[in-house]
Amino acid sequence: MRCTACGRRAVYHRRYTGDFLCDRCLARSVERRFYRAIRKHRMIKPGERVAVAVSGGKDSVVCMHLLAEYCRSKRCELVAITVDEGIAGYRNRSIPVARKNAEALGIEHRIVSFKESFGATLDEILARAKEKGSGLGACTYCGVLRRSLLNRAARESGASKLATAHNLDDEVQAIMLNYVRSDLARLYRLGPVYQPREGFVPRIKPMREIPEKEIALYALLKGIEADWSKCPYRGGIHLEIRDFINWLEENHPNSKFMILRMFDRMRPFLVSAVPEFRPKTCRVCGEPTSSDLCKACELLGELDIGAGS
Ligand code: SF4
Ligand code: ZN
Repeated sequence: MRCTACGRRAVYHRRYTGDFLCDRCLARSVERRFYRAIRKHRMIKPGERVAVAVSGGKDSVVCMHLLAEYCRSKRCELVAITVDEGIAGYRNRSIPVARKNAEALGIEHRIVSFKESFGATLDEILARAKEKGSGLGACTYCGVLRRSLLNRAARESGASKLATAHNLDDEVQAIMLNYVRSDLARLYRLGPVYQPREGFVPRIKPMREIPEKEIALYALLKGIEADWSKCPYRGGIHLEIRDFINWLEENHPNSKFMILRMFDRMRPFLVSAVPEFRPKTCRVCGEPTSSDLCKACELLGELDIGAGS
C-alpha cells in the first residue's frame, strides 16, 4: 500500500480516517497533533517553566521528547519528574530509561519516591492493605499518592504547568470509567487542561488526541528508547473498559474520537454540577485539599503508614 498523503510505502493503516501513512507522514501527524493541542488550548506560555511526568514508558518518553523540542523553540524550561512508586521488578527497569532520555535531551530530571515521601513503597502499602482487609485496589492507592507527589514535586521545582502523557486511549478509558462509577467530580477533572485550585499546579495533556498505537509507532520509527513492560498490578475494571473500547473501535472506527469529542462538548455544562472547592490545607502533610485531611493522608492513615498514621 502507498501513503495516501505522499505516495511512499505505507507503514500504517489509520482506519478511523481511511488513510494509509508512511513513516514520515505518520511521525509528522503525531507531531502536528501534539503542537496543535498546545496551541489550541493555550497550554504553555512562552518563557514558562514546565514539568513533565516521565515514567520511562513509551507515552511519557515521547511526550518529553516532543515537549523538549517545543520548549526550545519557545524559550521555556523543562524539568522531568519521575515517581518511583516502589514496584519491584517494574520500576527498576523504567526509571533508568527515563533518566537516560532526560540526560540525552539535556533536561533536568528529578526522581521522587513513595518510600521517601510516604514511608513505604507501593508493594509495602499493598501488603499492609491486604493485612487490613482493605477493599481498595492497587491503582487507587497508586493513583492518589502519585498525583499528590507529582503535584508537590512540580510545585517545588517551580513549574507553573505539569504535563502528563495521557493519550486518546487513556482519556477515553477514564471518561468511561467515571461514567460507570458515576463520579461527576472526577469526570469534570478530565480535559486537555485542568486548572484546579490554589496550591495545585495546572495539569496539561498535550497527547490527549493521539491514539496510543500511533505514539508507540512514533517511538519505534524515531528510535526513541522506552520501557515497554507492563505494571504487574494492572487489572480489574480498567482492563475490561480498555478491551470494551478497543472492541468498539474495531467494529466502529472513530468511536474513541467520538466519545472524546462528545465529552468535550458536555464538559462546560458539568461545572455547575460539581461541588464548589473551598481550599484548605491538610492537617497532616500541609498539601492543598478540600477537607481537613487530603486523600493521600486519609488512605495512608487507614493503614497506619507514614505521616498519615
Ligand atoms: Fe500504579 Fe495501577 Fe498504573 Fe500500576 S497500573 S503503575 S498500580 S496506577
Ligand atoms: Zn495530607
